[in-house]
Amino acid sequence: MAPVVRFAPSPTGRLHLGSARLAVINALFARTQGGTFVLRIDDTDTEQSRADYDQAIRDDLAWLGLGWDRLARQSARLARYTDAFKRLRDEARVYACYETEDELARLRAGLRARGLPPVYDRLGLRLGDADRRRLEAEDRRPHWRFLLDAGSVAWTDLVRGPQAIDAGSLSDPVLVRADGAPTYTLASIVDDLEIGITHVIRGEDHVANTAVQLQIAEALGAAPGRFAFAHLPLLVDRDGAKLSKRDAALGLGALREAGVEAMTIVSLFARLGSSAPVEPFVALDQAVAGFDLERFGRAPVRFDPHELDVLNQRVVAGLPFAAVADRLVALGVAGGAPFWEAVRANCARVADVADWWRVVAGPLAPVVEDAALLAHAVTALPPEPWDAATWAAWTGAVAAATGSKGRALYRPLRLALTGLDHGPEMRYLLPLVGRDRVLARLKGQPS
Ligand code: GLU
Repeated sequence: MAPVVRFAPSPTGRLHLGSARLAVINALFARTQGGTFVLRIDDTDTEQSRADYDQAIRDDLAWLGLGWDRLARQSARLARYTDAFKRLRDEARVYACYETEDELARLRAGLRARGLPPVYDRLGLRLGDADRRRLEAEDRRPHWRFLLDAGSVAWTDLVRGPQAIDAGSLSDPVLVRADGAPTYTLASIVDDLEIGITHVIRGEDHVANTAVQLQIAEALGAAPGRFAFAHLPLLVDRDGAKLSKRDAALGLGALREAGVEAMTIVSLFARLGSSAPVEPFVALDQAVAGFDLERFGRAPVRFDPHELDVLNQRVVAGLPFAAVADRLVALGVAGGAPFWEAVRANCARVADVADWWRVVAGPLAPVVEDAALLAHAVTALPPEPWDAATWAAWTGAVAAATGSKGRALYRPLRLALTGLDHGPEMRYLLPLVGRDRVLARLKGQPS
């Protein structure tokens, strides 16, 4: 059966690297297996969710090239969660609780102070009708918790291997808030069941949720083994600290503006944390080929911004002209594929082409280092048309006339023609600069 996976961001901020990684892995997993990639917007938290973030997430995913096969939005599915809740209530798997946030915080603090785990004490379960009436007369509205079964919840995780979580170590999860809104815990598992998700691939911060959600799924009638789970280790920085969602520099928008390519992010996350090496892919298909969830391990995954920059440079160096053509136009760069192919290996970011375009099209102040050699170079300059072989023929003639070779020959020519002592291969630049500008620059004239 072809897998159905979901990427389920909450629209409470822009996508950041950690969530982009889960999007990449889910999308590639679906593609390798001919499966379905669902984008699920987890917007049950109406206070934090924002329409502009919802839009930005979709824009960022589209930019990454990760098209989704189906879009689901939790705010449009509230009736489904109410139905599920009623079924659980009819089977006495949920119970009403009346504690305020403050009371719960005090309960947890008290347990911790006694060295006990901060697990909810199930006071709600012990309330009688009279208690409930008294609390409601105080204007308290109930929130509803799921009654966990004691015992161990086990599954074989595709990344972490055999897992067993003692449900007794967990608080009964809140499924419906006092304002009647369903929580993520309920909405997510109802969606996973009803949308037909086969593989839940998410961060390891959700391992305990999986134990809880497996019990809820079972209570809703799901067959055992209905889902496969893969919990990926979280990204950490060089010091081993969890990457902060609030670090704006790690937001996809900021990275994109800094010149990081979508394919750099896809390339990195298609392999980082797996036993396969990271490679600079320039098309999604390359990342799909060879993607294997089983090769991902459970050790924390180190993210190094410098590695991202190095990879970006390698990706840029391999991007075909078609992938950048529109952006070059927007940058005012003409020159087409021959120009792009000549300079791409010298660009840390695509936008750097603008600098090389100025070198080709001018105006540029030549640097005259060896006027005598440049005078010979003027004499030896062949007529156009020029191609990639012209440079060797021309410099060979200059060498014969001057006796210069190596650095003494090439450096003055490069300085005169480009104003720089480094850059793309001259044999490709020369025909792009063209004879008129080359002549002027050899004579020291800005051109
Ligand atoms: N909205 C949840 C989150 O962003 C989704 C978790 C899940 O994949 O179930 O953490």
